[in-house]
Amino acid sequence: MERSTIVRVHEGLHARPATRFVKLAKGFESDVDLIKDGKAVSAKSSVKLMLLAVKENQEVTVRANGADAIEAIEALIGYLENPKAGLDDEDSQPAGDAGPKAAVVSAAESAPAAPGAATGLRGVAASEGFVIGPAFAHFPPDIAGQGRMLQAEEITGEIERFRTAVSAVQARMDHALAQDSLSAGDRGIVAALRDIAADDSLTSEAEGLIKGGNDAISAVITAASTIAADFSAVDDHYLNARADDVHAVGRQICLVLLGQDDVSLENIPEGAILIADDIGAWDLARAPLKRIGGVVCGHGGATSHIAIIARSHGIPAVLGLGDQVNALRTAREVALDGNGGHVIINPDAATRADFAGRVEVAAKERAGLTVFKTVTPKLADGRIIEVAANIGSLEEIEAAQEAGALGIGLFRTELLFMRHMHLPSEDMQAETYAALAKAFAPYPVIVRTLDIGGDKPIAGIEFPDEENPFLGWRGIRMCLDRPDIFKRQLRALLRAAVHGNIKVMLPMVSDISEVRQTRVLVAECAAELKAEGVPHAAFDLGVMIETPAAVLIAPALAKEVAFFSIGTNDLTQYIMAADRLNPTVAKLNDVTNPAVMSAIEMTAKAGVAAGIMVGMCGEAAGRPDLIAIFVKMGLTELSMSPASIQRAKKTIMAMAAEG
Ligand code: PEP
Ligand code: MG
Repeated sequence: MERSTIVRVHEGLHARPATRFVKLAKGFESDVDLIKDGKAVSAKSSVKLMLLAVKENQEVTVRANGADAIEAIEALIGYLENPKAGLDDEDSQPAGDAGPKAAVVSAAESAPAAPGAATGLRGVAASEGFVIGPAFAHFPPDIAGQGRMLQAEEITGEIERFRTAVSAVQARMDHALAQDSLSAGDRGIVAALRDIAADDSLTSEAEGLIKGGNDAISAVITAASTIAADFSAVDDHYLNARADDVHAVGRQICLVLLGQDDVSLENIPEGAILIADDIGAWDLARAPLKRIGGVVCGHGGATSHIAIIARSHGIPAVLGLGDQVNALRTAREVALDGNGGHVIINPDAATRADFAGRVEVAAKERAGLTVFKTVTPKLADGRIIEVAANIGSLEEIEAAQEAGALGIGLFRTELLFMRHMHLPSEDMQAETYAALAKAFAPYPVIVRTLDIGGDKPIAGIEFPDEENPFLGWRGIRMCLDRPDIFKRQLRALLRAAVHGNIKVMLPMVSDISEVRQTRVLVAECAAELKAEGVPHAAFDLGVMIETPAAVLIAPALAKEVAFFSIGTNDLTQYIMAADRLNPTVAKLNDVTNPAVMSAIEMTAKAGVAAGIMVGMCGEAAGRPDLIAIFVKMGLTELSMSPASIQRAKKTIMAMAAEG
C-alpha cells in the first residue's frame, strides 16, 4: 500500500532529517520505499534517501509492504508532514562535514631520535613566543590498496576482514556518541558519519567489488568515491557536502584494515607541539587549542589562517618549513622560537636553558604591559587611536575584553559558517552579531561579511574548481552572486544593529559597483524587515582595502563608504603577486616592501581627504615597528589579535609622548 504527501521538512530530507526518517522506517518490519518523480529508494537507507534529494514542499509517496505496512505509512507520512512532532533532541543537529578523518601518529610511540642531537630548522615566524614541548606529529597516512587482484580462495576471508573493519568503525563511533563530553556540534558530525558507516550503500558497493577480486582497501576507496560522486552530482549544496562524509567514513574503514589508529587532534597532550605538513584552518580552530603548546607546519606563511588562529590564541608557531618538516616526524621533543622562526629538534641542555630564559623575559614583558589594558591611546594632537581586536567567534570576546580592546575592528564571520557545517540561519547570525554588539557597546564592532573562497572554502556552498582560487570567486564576489546567502547575513546585521554599534565591511572589493549593489541589497533587506515589523537599525558600511584595484580607486570609493579598513594580508599578496600561503615566496610577501607601504599610504591619503575613518585590520596593524608609520599616515584605528593589543597601546603612547 502507499500514500502521497507534500514534504514539510524544513530544507528537505537532507542529512539529519533523512536519519530520523530512516530510524522511524527501521522500526517497522515492512519493506518501505520512498518515491519521488517515479524513482523509488529504500526508506531504510539514509544514503539512498539523501541521494533522492527530496526538498521541502515536494510531493513524495511512501510505499510499504508487510505486516505493519499501515502503521509504517502512518508514522512516516506523519513525520514528513509534521517533522517536529515527537522528536528526541539527539537528532536535532545538522550533519557535519568530514569529522574525524585525519590519522595521527603520536611521536611518543615512534622511534626516538638520537638523544642529545639538537638540530635547528628555519621556517616562517608566524606567531611569536618561545616554547619547548613534547612533539605531536600529525601526518595522516596515505592510503592505497594492494594493487593486485585477489585469488578466488581469498575472497571470503577478505569480505570477513572488511565486515570486521566496518563493525569496528561503527563501534568506535557509537562509543564517541556515548560520551557526555561530546559537544552538540561534534555529536551531529559523528552521528552523520555513523549513519553512513551503518548504511548498506557503502558496504554493499564495497562487498560487490571485493567479490569481483578487489582487495578490501581498494574496494572501499572505489566504493566511497562512487557514492561521493553521487552526492557531488546532486543539485543541492547541503548534500554535496556529504561527499566529504563518505570519504571520511571510507578512510576510517581503510585505517582499521591497515591496522593504523586514527587519533584525532582531540588527543593532543597538554603543552605538546603540533607538527604537521598542513592543517586545515577549521581543523585547528576546533582542536583543543588551550592544550596546544606550539604549531609547526610544512605549509603556510605569516598571514595564512593557521598563523592568525595561532596568534589570536597566543600559540607560538613556525610555518612554511617545506620538506624540512619531515625531519620532525620522529622528534621526541621540540623547541620552537616563534619570533625568529626557528625549530630545534630534541633540544639539549644549553638550548633548554636559553629557552627558559626567553620564556621568562616574555612573561615579564607581558606582565609589564597589563597597565595598558585600560588606556585609551591618544596622540599629542588629541586624536584617539582605536586599538581594536580581530576575532572570529564569541568565545574570543573575553580575551579581547581582557586585553582592553576598544571594540572589534574585524569579526571574521567565516568561522560561524564553517563551524555549523550548514549555512547558519538568519536568527542564529542575528543573535551572534547582537551578542558582539552588546559586549563592546558603545565601541564599534565591525563585522566583515562572508569572505570564503581562496584558502577558506566551507561546506554548504559549492565552489568551482579554480586554477587560482585567490583570484577567483571569493568574498564580495561570491556574496553578490548568492543573494540568498548574502541577504540572510545583511538582514541579521540590520537586526543586530539595534543592540549596539554595528558597522559592516565588505571583503575583496575591487570595483565600485560591488558597493553599490550591496547598498541595493541592504535597502531591500531593510524594507523587508520593516514590512515584517522586525526591529532593525541602519549601520555604517565600509570596505576592506585589500586589492590593488581598491587602492587605485580609493578616492572614488571613499565617497561611497563610511570607512576603510586596510587588509594588509591580502593586499601584500596581491601587490607583490606573492601567495600568502607559499613559503617559497615568503620573502616577497612582506608588508614593509615599499610597494605595499606606498599602497597603504595612497589609501590613507584618499580616506583622510574624504574625511572618512581609515583603519587597518591586517596582521601588520599589530606590529610595534610599523604602528608609528601607519598613525603618521593618518590611520586612526588599528585592529589586531588580542595578544598584541597592550603592546600596541604602549607603542602609541610612547609615540604620543615623543610629540
Ligand atoms: C587581510 O587580508 O588583511 C585580512 C584581514 O583578511 P583575511 O586575513 O581574513 O583574508
Ligand atoms: Mg583578506
